[in-house]
Amino acid sequence: MTEQRRALATLSRQLYKKGWMEGTGGNLSLRVEGRILITPSGAHKGRIRPDDILELTEEGLPTGDDRRKPSAETSIHRAIYRLFPHAGAVIHVHTPDAILASLQGNEEIRLPPLEVIKGLGFSLPEEAPPIPLFENNPSVDKIAETIENRLKNSPAPLPVLLIRNHGTTVWGDTLDEALRHIELAEFCFRVMGSLSRTDRHRS
Ligand SMILES: [Zn+2]
Repeated sequence: MTEQRRALATLSRQLYKKGWMEGTGGNLSLRVEGRILITPSGAHKGRIRPDDILELTEEGLPTGDDRRKPSAETSIHRAIYRLFPHAGAVIHVHTPDAILASLQGNEEIRLPPLEVIKGLGFSLPEEAPPIPLFENNPSVDKIAETIENRLKNSPAPLPVLLIRNHGTTVWGDTLDEALRHIELAEFCFRVMGSLSRTDRHRS
């Protein structure tokens, strides 16, 4: 899995440079052959090397005798993989745009009907599809449980969810697809922030 470790480490450093994984925040994972490769807990995401990537079973247990701690948000990644059998990659980032967007709804937020939503797999954005929104909680396991329980019965229309005052999580069949999803989701949140500033200015 050398190639996959390298891909995760490279993307981690790239997303850090974009300002999306500040202060050790954010995490990335890949599901490969029944294993989860994931970024470590508490590590600076701008300095991740392929050897820093941890390998877990789908139950979240370390393979071999690796005693390093995986991402504190591993339970959210595992919930996504259980919910979406096709998902092969999960990306979670902390951005100011996502946090501002997360303040614009209760259990969901509505995206503006932007052309780029097509890139998230939604064909005609005449009506903005909702993004499920979850409350933050000091217990990540609790957030993961809430996500799994709600999305099991009411699947997300786009491969994106938000946690209030926290950040964005996306998934995709591949790491490249998940990267496209996070870029487009963050683009939409950025536009939402600009639109609400314009509205405030007008009123
Ligand atoms: Zn987070």
